[in-house]
Amino acid sequence: MMDSEATVYELSVPGRPGVSLPLLDVPETSFPDVPLREELRLPELSELDVTRHYQRLSQRNFGVDSGFYPLGSCTMKYNPKINEAIAQMAGFAQTHPLQSEDSVQGNLELICRLQDWLAEIGGFDRVSLQPAAGANGELAALLMMRAYHKDHGEKGRTQVLIPDSAHGTNPASTSMAGFDVLEIPSDERGNLNIDALRSACDDTVVGIMLTNPNTLGLFEEQVREITDIVHSCGALVYGDGANMNALTGIVQPRDLGIDLMHFNLHKTFSTPHGGGGPGSGPLGAAGPLCDYLPGPIVERRNRDGGGYCYDIVIPDRSIGRTCTYFGNFAVLVRTYAYIRMLGAEGLKQNALHAVLNANYLRVRLQEAYKVPFDRLCMHEFVCEGVATGTGVRAIDISKRLIDYGFHPPTNYFPLIVREALMIEPTETESKPTLDAYIEAMLMIADEVRKAPDVLKSAPHTAPVGRLDEVKAARDLKLCDPTIFT
Ligand SMILES: *Cc1c(COP(=O)(O)O)cnc(C)c1O
Repeated sequence: MMDSEATVYELSVPGRPGVSLPLLDVPETSFPDVPLREELRLPELSELDVTRHYQRLSQRNFGVDSGFYPLGSCTMKYNPKINEAIAQMAGFAQTHPLQSEDSVQGNLELICRLQDWLAEIGGFDRVSLQPAAGANGELAALLMMRAYHKDHGEKGRTQVLIPDSAHGTNPASTSMAGFDVLEIPSDERGNLNIDALRSACDDTVVGIMLTNPNTLGLFEEQVREITDIVHSCGALVYGDGANMNALTGIVQPRDLGIDLMHFNLHKTFSTPHGGGGPGSGPLGAAGPLCDYLPGPIVERRNRDGGGYCYDIVIPDRSIGRTCTYFGNFAVLVRTYAYIRMLGAEGLKQNALHAVLNANYLRVRLQEAYKVPFDRLCMHEFVCEGVATGTGVRAIDISKRLIDYGFHPPTNYFPLIVREALMIEPTETESKPTLDAYIEAMLMIADEVRKAPDVLKSAPHTAPVGRLDEVKAARDLKLCDPTIFT
């Protein structure tokens, strides 16, 4: 048996290569006189050893295909396998982005239809599929706001309003776009504090970045008032659409006063994600902002003699590209398949079930965990993973969940809840799965009282135990330093 912790370099046995090269059948010649990398040590393993090594590593991964993964804000729902089969069809997978427009009309039609569907879901006038992720969509939207205000002679607008519950990408995108962040506090019901918003709004404000439902999983009860206040000072409203899984088919964000919004296709529309990609963060716009969208986008045109054809266009005042070609096309194909499969009614049912599942967990877990904002939640909720007097923290509860076979929830976000555990079950989980999770969480709450040390040293069953996360970040080792000397 091979050592399960070993790297391919440690498993390597000199003289045991995985490939046999054919005998030389051309005249031997010498390399030109350039220095060769003699120090490069490549691992030598048989094909079977390599196969087993990577198979073993892959089995250590925890993914949504291996178990319940209630990672709040990330919407880790099941990704139907039919999407993969469709994305791999030759007409999609084997086309080249530089092919002529007339040779890829089918792909352009798919892009055009998806633009239309997302526009309808959000209530927007135009959608660009360019941005490669939510954060990329945020930056594009802020650049659009900047261009829009500049065109209206408003150079004094430099501040972006961001609720204190916001995702970290919101302030990060704001400073990348060259603006200042002005944080707006939440009130005791978990809504944005309207008085604080009102006093922040003046002619120095670019716009607000609003997540609804917010990252506490709560619907902003005064959302229309918020967007009216922001508009009344000449500023714009950006919607962070990462939480659209609670709203698809039920509310069009445009009706709430949102001018611009990104969708997270890899969250709401069920395309595989994790570990940083690939994602897609299409941007929807309303009214005059449409002209500023990143391009290219696809437009439908009546063809002479009947039918349609599809043209690649750049919006008139476009901020330009945010990504190469058409963004992450394979993600767009998966989203297309997903929406097509569900239809409008299916998308609405998804949102209703996501909300139902979250509320079921919230009410059952409230027996043992404090939920600071005690009201109906949307697709996720936040509780406190803390037990007074035991020294147990949210991270301990999360690590212990691994022993019970579940992926931990999001920890320590949003920042306004102490020891936050943010739980998002999604609509794709069954009641038995939710019940098993509840049982594990309640057993852990029991352990907090009876055996807190078991929690503090968890996980006990994972291939590696508790990691020193600070050291891992400060003293990052991406490869074995002995390999390249
Ligand atoms: C995930 C997320 C984002 C960023 O989206 P990415 O696709 O990861 O860049 C922004 N806001 C919220 C609320 C999110 O959950």
